[in-house]
Amino acid sequence: MMRLPMFDLRAPRTTDEAARILAGEGANAMLLAGGTDLLPNMKRRQQVPRTLVSLRNIGTLKQSQFNPAGARLGACVTLTEIAEDPRFRNGYSALWQAAAQVATSHIRNMATLGGNICLDTRCSYYDQNYEWRKSISFCMKKDGEVCWTAPGSERCMAVSSTDTAPALIALGARVLLRSGAEVREVLLSDLYQNDGMNYMLRQPGEIVEEVRLPALHGWKSAYWKLRRRGSFDFPVMSVAAAARLSPAGVVEEARIVLGAVASRPLPADEAAKSLVGRPLTEETIAEAAAQAARLAKPLDNTDFDMSWRKKVTTAFVTYALRDLRGDDMTSVNLSLGRHIL
Ligand SMILES: Cc1cc2nc3c(=O)[nH]c(=O)nc-3n(C[C@H](O)[C@H](O)[C@H](O)COP(=O)(O)OP(=O)(O)OC[C@H]3O[C@@H](n4cnc5c(N)ncnc54)[C@H](O)[C@@H]3O)c2cc1C
Repeated sequence: MMRLPMFDLRAPRTTDEAARILAGEGANAMLLAGGTDLLPNMKRRQQVPRTLVSLRNIGTLKQSQFNPAGARLGACVTLTEIAEDPRFRNGYSALWQAAAQVATSHIRNMATLGGNICLDTRCSYYDQNYEWRKSISFCMKKDGEVCWTAPGSERCMAVSSTDTAPALIALGARVLLRSGAEVREVLLSDLYQNDGMNYMLRQPGEIVEEVRLPALHGWKSAYWKLRRRGSFDFPVMSVAAAARLSPAGVVEEARIVLGAVASRPLPADEAAKSLVGRPLTEETIAEAAAQAARLAKPLDNTDFDMSWRKKVTTAFVTYALRDLRGDDMTSVNLSLGRHIL
């Protein structure tokens, strides 16, 4: 049985207090939200903070507000709350679809939006217990020097496996980060970089406090996820697509974001741009799908064969765009075990 290492638990009641504790503890402390990723990582000794700063007693982080200008979601809103809230059923569909497809219902009851955005990157050489990793001299992400996925690489190739981040980026989300009395607001997309170790540009003492979504009247969005078991697994490739369509069905604005094919969610901006000013026909969809798939460079460090994952990227972008067009996706949903409707 894998046991947790010893740690001190702090349970502040405000973000100010949490930020003060983080500032005082420095690199020895980590934030604990639902704990569904961090605690298993601690058992595998991938992360061994001396102090955990729990966010669970901070009421303000659990609130959601909707107004004509958009939505503000506290970082500790759970994925179940998002998946079950009908206010996400219109322009924000990609977000509830992503939340509804994370792990299992038990995990979604604990898992938070902030924790999902900050989710550690994953890799077959890293997601192992301490003894297994020791037997291969560890990897550069923790305790070692080599990236076993690409031994010549100077950077870690672990994969971004968050479901909600691609969806949120496609929806134009911004995040509010607090450190001490300082608060900054950034585009969520600007918070990530393509490096499996330093995948977030979040400063060590910063707390993700809130996710802000713009009002998306006239937008449609969808999230499509490839995984082995339709009821459970992490994404091994995913697509979030969002578009504002004119009454005649012409694309006025669009975003496409690929998940789980790099160390960060990958915006496919050129592919999205190719749709603007045109209707979603089979031809324009095929063009955008081929363009988006060129960006995907999956490696041999998660489930499924990497060249197959690249190939099906085209199919998944196609599904997502047909979904936006309003096609009946029932048979594809059934064949993929996508039980979210
Ligand atoms: C069996 C299993 C299956 C899973 N399947 C999926 C899946 O399909 N898709 C998926 O996306 N995830 C999956 N997960 C991972 C995890 O459950 C989710 O990503 C979850 O949303 C993480 O949220 P949490 O609140 O539990 O985060 P925690 O585990 O509490 O924290 C995760 C990380 O985020 C940091 N953090 C948390 N909150 C904040 C904050 N407000 N500000 C700054 N940093 C913060 C923590 O310090 C930690 O580094 C799975 C996990 C398990 C165990």
